[in-house]
This record gives sequence, structure tokens and C-alpha cells, in this order.
Amino acid sequence: MSAHETPKHSMAQRVRTFANGIGARLLASVLAASAVITFGVAGIEVWSNYRADLAELQADIDRIGRGSLDPIALSLWNYDDAQLRLQLDGIRQRPYVAAVEVRERAADGSDGALRARVGSDGVEGRRIERLPLTYRRDGENADLGTLLIEVDAAALRKRSVERASSILLTQGGIVLLIILVLMLMARQIVTRHLSALATAAERFDVRDELGSFRIRPRSKGPGDEIDRVIDALEKMRSSLQTAYRDLADANTELQADIAARLRAEAAADHLANHDALTNLPNRRLLFQRLAHELAVADRSGTQGAMMFIDLDHFKTLNDARGHSIGDAVLMEVARRLRQCLREIDLVARLGGDEFVAVLPMLGELRERATSNALVAAEKLRAAVAEPIVVRGEVFRLSASIGVALFPDDATSPENLIKHADTAMYQAKTEGRNCISFFQRDLLEATEQRHALETDLRQALVENTLDVAYQPLIDGLGTLRGAEALVRWNHPTRGPVSPVQFIPLCEESGLIIPLGDWVMRHVLRQVRDWRREGALHPQQYISVNISPRQFRQQGFEDWLIGLLHEFEVPPSQLVLEITEGVVLGDIDSAILRMQSLRARGVRFYIDDFGTGYSSMAYLKRLPADGLKIDKGFVRDLGTDANDAAIVDAILAMGRHFGLTVVAEGVETEDQARYLLERSCDLLQGYHLGRPVEAKRFASDFLSRSIRAV
Ligand code: C2E
Ligand code: MG
Ligand code: MG
Repeated sequence: MSAHETPKHSMAQRVRTFANGIGARLLASVLAASAVITFGVAGIEVWSNYRADLAELQADIDRIGRGSLDPIALSLWNYDDAQLRLQLDGIRQRPYVAAVEVRERAADGSDGALRARVGSDGVEGRRIERLPLTYRRDGENADLGTLLIEVDAAALRKRSVERASSILLTQGGIVLLIILVLMLMARQIVTRHLSALATAAERFDVRDELGSFRIRPRSKGPGDEIDRVIDALEKMRSSLQTAYRDLADANTELQADIAARLRAEAAADHLANHDALTNLPNRRLLFQRLAHELAVADRSGTQGAMMFIDLDHFKTLNDARGHSIGDAVLMEVARRLRQCLREIDLVARLGGDEFVAVLPMLGELRERATSNALVAAEKLRAAVAEPIVVRGEVFRLSASIGVALFPDDATSPENLIKHADTAMYQAKTEGRNCISFFQRDLLEATEQRHALETDLRQALVENTLDVAYQPLIDGLGTLRGAEALVRWNHPTRGPVSPVQFIPLCEESGLIIPLGDWVMRHVLRQVRDWRREGALHPQQYISVNISPRQFRQQGFEDWLIGLLHEFEVPPSQLVLEITEGVVLGDIDSAILRMQSLRARGVRFYIDDFGTGYSSMAYLKRLPADGLKIDKGFVRDLGTDANDAAIVDAILAMGRHFGLTVVAEGVETEDQARYLLERSCDLLQGYHLGRPVEAKRFASDFLSRSIRAV
């Protein structure tokens, strides 16, 4: 739209626009000003004309006075009325004189009787000029009467008014003409441009890039203010559009930025709330959701269940087969768990092989919720138990599942997880691959476990543990060595069995500092006994090494370092490891054993027969001896199966050239049975209970030296 094109408007609109416009105001001002001027000028002119007429009249009358009074007085004196009339008629001919009369002087000096009168009567607004008529005689003036001239003032005024009207008319006409010309000029020069500009500005749309709106400069004329306005507006338009374009570009960029940022935030949010491996919600999100679910459960009066799912022996698999297999297995497990549950249920990964499932709304009554939870847990258990195939290899896993109901069992997320964990622990101790529900008394057991752990840490720090030594005797009754067994005399509970606290340490990792403590303690003792000559160079001490300890990075260096530190020859140390050690990564276990054996450290396989290792493992393991588990020894006389197992182990040991030690020999019969089948060493209450170092030295070492 060009600025010079006038848009089509309705008549009323145009009138309104005009009435509000500069043109109308200009017109009004010019009209007012010219009216004032015209009326002023006309008024002044009329007034001065009137004054001039009046003055002329006066002069005329004065002239009459000077020229006519004496002849009139003479005619009056002579009683020449005819002459008088003629004279009066002469005066009457003058303009504006309506009538002329002569009156004699009365005796009292006032106007007396009328002598002659010429002219009309009763003219409105008459002005009367009085001139005294005197006759000079004998040097004396005689007062004869008065000449009264009646002037028609109305006619005089009328003439002035007529003249004024004509002046007004011509002046007004001229003014109107000027106004018209002015208006046209104003319109031509200013207002039409202004209104075109206004219309253009009204229609201006900064987004209208294609220039459907442009203010075109006027084709003709010098560069006046309008042109400057047009230039300025045009500049403003283009800079506005440039600015708008820049702004729009910036805005687009900003929008893209914001979108990217939002995406990044969402991704970060997802990352912060999900487990990277399985993409399941993580602990953080779990806690958020749990708080919500607990509140809902509380309000709705329905029970939900939290399931703590822990894969059995996953660590072993992970260590043995490497993390990539482990990760693939975890992903598959995560997928199966998710698949088993309803849309409203939540499956989260806490880390490692620990998963949590939250199943809200299982029923209002505890019994109902429990049975529903059991069905769901069973589904989860079965799903995990299905063989998992990774890279063509089949893995069989199982899960231990602990279940706690909410809000019945716990009202806070922390407690709920703790209770489900307690139940899971119970499931583990019940033999794994099973489901256990939270029971309040189990909680106490867990809490006790935790308390025990804390106390044990304390004991380690305070160095209040001890080591007992149990003799290892050969067929000839000679003391060949001893097994070192850690002892803990709890300040309030009294002696706590390693059977109780060693697994705990295994779980918590406390086994590392504990193992270090035991090894140092034992080696220091061996050094002392050696210095005293109490321990024969061929006698040895066997120390239990737990799987986690054995797998610990730098285990060999640690051990060799300690042997050096205490100047104990490796040949006087036997490490008792269980088959669990091998279960992890058999190859690295073998390497580790080989490297230590090369230095003279020997290995016995402890609790042999109770584990799950196969002959294949045994064949490969560079062990020096086997320890038949006391479980088999105990029932030797009564259980034919146990006897058969013991026989088999002895035969196998012999075959592989291993030293076979029988544990838990409590009776003479057991000892005889074992020795008859050439068991190398016996250990058990029958031969000697584990005793503290001093007693071991006095009761066993001192008597045995010569016998070796
Ligand atoms: P283990 O290595 O099989 O040790 C033999 C266990 O049998 C010891 O129990 C010992 O006191 C007990 N015992 C010995 N003779 C007899 C007997 O005639 N009859 C019966 N019923 N038991 C007998 P303890 O000292 O309670 O240790 C239990 C387990 O704790 C050990 O089994 C070992 O696995 C672990 N353990 C003990 N000390 C340590 C240690 O310093 N480090 C590690 N890692 N584990 C240890
Ligand atoms: Mg042992
Ligand atoms: Mg044992």
C-alpha cells in the first residue's frame, strides 16, 4: 500500500477524520481570526465613516449658521414669511435634514410661537440643532428667535450600516476565498500527505517483509518537512524491519537454544534418575516415587509391596566371566523384571545385582496383599530363573527376593527398603532362590548384625581380637603345625564365633582389614616362636583366607611383603582357601596360586566336599592339600555315605599327591578310621582344641619339637 493512495472510507468516517484533522482546525482558526479581523476592520471603517458623516453634517450646519442665519433673521424681522419659507426650503434640501423651522423668542427667553416650518413630521431618532437668530441694529443685537434644524440621524446610521454590510460582504467573500485557497494549499502541501502517512503507519506491519508497504517519496517538490518526515519514516521502517528481522533471527536461535537446552535438561534429568546400564529408574527416582506411593497407600488404605531382588552368586559370575557378560545378564534380568509387572509398578536398580520392585495397590487386607505380592514375586523369581543366553552361552541365575508391605511394614522409604532388604537377607540364608516376607523379629536379627559389624570394627581398631591355634597331628602323633583361628571376645556378648562374624565381614568388606590383622598377628607369632626356637622350621601355621580377601588386588604382594617384614619363610605358611575362591575366575585364581607357590607358600582347600566345585576344578588347581570338612568326619561311624565320601576324598588326594587333612576329629574311632586309610593329618577336639598362643606353645609346641 502506497502512502499516497487514500483508502476508501465511508462518508461518515471521512467527515469524522476531517473534523479531527489539521484541516478542520486550520479552517476554524483562520475563520475565527479572519472573522475578528474582518469585523474589526469593518467596524472601524463604519465607525470612522459615521464620524466623518457627522462631522460633515456639523460643518454643513455651521456653514448654514454662518451663511443663512443673518438673511433668515432679516426675513423674520421684516415679517417676510414667503422669503423665510424659501430660505428654509433651501436648508431643507441638504442631506439628512428632515425638517427646518423658525420659532420666535418668547418673553421668558424660551422658544415661542412657530413662524415657519418646512419638512416632514415625526421622523424617529431626530436630532435637533438649534441656532439663535439675532438681528443687529444700531450696534445692538436683538434676539429674534431660534432656527431649529431637525437632522435625520437614523438615516445617517442606516447609511453607515449599509456601507458596513457591503464592506463585510466583500471582506468576508475575500476572506472565504483566501481560506478556501489556503485550505486547498494546506491539503495539497500538508494534510493529504499527513493522512496518507497516518494511513500507511496504521497499516504498517513490521513482519510484512515483502514491502507491500513502502512510503514512496513524493515525485515533485523540494525536500520540505514532509519529505523529511517521509525520509525519517522510511528510515525508521527499514531499521525497524532490520531490527525485527534481527530480533526474529535471534528469537529463532533462542528458541532453538531453549529447545536444545530443554532436551539436554531432560536428558540430564533422565540420566540423573536412571541407571545407565539398564535404563531402569535409579535409587534417586525410586525414593521420589516411594514417598509418593507411601502417601497414596496411606490415604487410600491399600497395601502395596516392595520387593528387594538380589541375584544369587552374581558377583562370582561377573568376576569369572567378565563385566561385559555380567552387564548383558543384568540388562536381560532388568528387561524380564520390567516385563513381569504391571504398568503402575516400578522396577529400579539400586546398583550391582540389586533390584527393587514397587507394587502399589495390592489389596486392602494384609492377607490379600500378601498373597498378591507372593504371586508377583514368584513371577519375578521364575523370570530370573529362566536360562539367559548371552553370546551363545547359557547362564542359569536365581534371585533371592525379600518382600515388605507398605504402609503396614514401614511408612518411610528408608525403612521400607531396609525391611525389604532384611527379608531378602533372610531369603539368602534360607538357601537362596526363594522369597521371604518381612517379619518384625527378623529386623532385630539384622540390626544385631549391623551392631556386630560396628563392634567388630571397633575391636579391630582397639586390637582386642585374638588368634587361637589348633594342632595338626600326623599319623605318628607328631605335631606338624596348627591352624590359626581368629577369636573375638565381645565385651558384652562374650566369645563370638567366626562362623557368625566372618560371613558378615565377607559381605561388608571388613574381611580385608580383618585378614590383614590376622595375618600380621600370626606372622609376628611365628617370628617370635622361631626366634625362641619353639617352632620347628618344618612346622607350619595355616591361615584361613576368605574368597574376597584372596581376590583382592595385590594380594600376593601384600603377603610376600608381610612374610619379609616378619622374616617368616613361605614354607612355614599354608593358606586355607575354600572352593568359593575358585568359583570366581579360576584362571586368575590359578595364576595367583602359582605365583605364591613358586615362592614356597602352600595351599590347602578347606571344607572340601561341601562346595560345588567339580573334579575338573580340582584337577587344575595347584593345591597342596585338602581338608575334609568336619561334616563328613562327624558321621563317619554311622553314615555309610559320609564314609564313602571320606574314602573317595582320601583316594583322590592320594591320586593327586595332595596332603589330606581331616577336620573335626572328635573321637578315637574317627581318628583310627582316618589313619587306617592313611589320612595325612588330623585336626579336631580329640587331638586338641584351638587354644591361645601361649597355651599352644606350652601344651603342644614344647612337646612336639623332638618328635618332628
Ligand atoms: P574352618 O577353617 O573350617 O575351621 C575349623 C573350624 O572347626 C573352627 O571353627 C574350629 O574351631 C572348628 N573345630 C575344630 N575341631 C573341631 C571339632 O573337633 N569339632 C567341631 N565341631 N569343630 C571343630 P571356628 O574357629 O569357629 O571357625 C569357623 C570358621 O571360621 C573356620 O572354619 C573358618 O572358615 C573361619 N575362620 C576362622 N578364623 C578365620 C580367620 O582368621 N580368617 C578367615 N577368613 N576365616 C576364619
Ligand atoms: Mg580352616
Ligand atoms: Mg574347615
